[in-house]
Amino acid sequence: MATESKRDYYEVLGISRDSSAEDIKKAYRQLARKFHPDVNQGDAGAEDKFKEVGEAYEVLSDAQKRGAYDRFGHAASGGSGGGFGAGGFDGFGGGGGLDDILNVFFGGGGGGRRPGPQRGEDLRYDMEVTLEEALRGGEKTIQVPRTENCETCGGNGAAPGTKPDTCVQCGGTGATRQVQQTILGTVQTSVTCPRCQGRGQVVKSPCGGCAGRGKLRKTRELKVPIPPGVDDGMQLPIRGEGEAGTLNGPPGDLYIFFGVKEHEKFERDGMDLYISQPLTFVQAALGDTISVSTLSGDSVSLAIPEGTQNGTRFKLRGHGMPNIRNRNQKGDLTVVIAVQVPTKLSEEERKSLRSFAELRGEVAGQTPDHHDSGKGLWERIKHAVKGD
Ligand SMILES: [Zn+2]
Ligand SMILES: [Zn+2]
Repeated sequence: MATESKRDYYEVLGISRDSSAEDIKKAYRQLARKFHPDVNQGDAGAEDKFKEVGEAYEVLSDAQKRGAYDRFGHAASGGSGGGFGAGGFDGFGGGGGLDDILNVFFGGGGGGRRPGPQRGEDLRYDMEVTLEEALRGGEKTIQVPRTENCETCGGNGAAPGTKPDTCVQCGGTGATRQVQQTILGTVQTSVTCPRCQGRGQVVKSPCGGCAGRGKLRKTRELKVPIPPGVDDGMQLPIRGEGEAGTLNGPPGDLYIFFGVKEHEKFERDGMDLYISQPLTFVQAALGDTISVSTLSGDSVSLAIPEGTQNGTRFKLRGHGMPNIRNRNQKGDLTVVIAVQVPTKLSEEERKSLRSFAELRGEVAGQTPDHHDSGKGLWERIKHAVKGD
């Protein structure tokens, strides 16, 4: 993903990360006016700025996209498509003044279905990855069933060599007026043109490839990035890989919803990992140097001090999951000691344990006092119960 050089969207709009939707809109309106191509004729720098501002606004004004951006950074916009500047304006044709363009962005211009280009629907794809894949990141090839524009007719539904005709009933606007006489006077309403269903066009000789619909169901193979550090429930939008638009409208986006499978050894809590490490009670009592295998497959040597108690935690710094926004920053791996009490003792082993107890002055039926770490545990339990 060659998105490293991209400026931060909040920086582009000159706002802080906790800005409200209202602040974002205000900052965008101001900058869009300043850099609009109509105001800066022939200034390529201004045009680039205008596109940059538009892209930042498109992401930050959409709660879902903003959330994904906050978590993934620019990786969230995916590798392909990404053409807000190019794609965003084509559909609206030239000639519109600044306010027309702003109205389109801000959802102005009244209700009802607009004739002409319609953006395609967004798609959701649930992707399950292993914890190892979430650690390393990478790429996965997926099959996405979706509608695409028919290649034979280019999406307009007309047989090759012919063109759709402008609808005569609505003159291509997609809407017709209805005039009603009511007790309040004459009321004019606008309704979707019944002849063209609001498309503004009528196909006389339908394309054989798509039966005049302009679209076909296809299963498309896509390579999708797995961001290192991805966690359960995170979403990654991939621009322009959703359903095809109507009448050459831009396609929708594809949202990858990540699910991370449970690991049989490692537990995850955000960037931190936990592993239970069995020790024999002899190792725990005498101390030892053991080798702990991390999620990446590396082995890390860990010194177990003499007299290590069950439940003792050792932290291996930097052996957790990477931060999804900065892969150089990593969580820790906590090793939780599980002392194993030996079972299925032989007669000789029983004997040696009894003589061990004798050496310690232990008497059958008498339990030991709480030692230091036992007391600590009891204090912790009491605190947890009292909630302080
Ligand atoms: Zn076709
Ligand atoms: Zn019509």
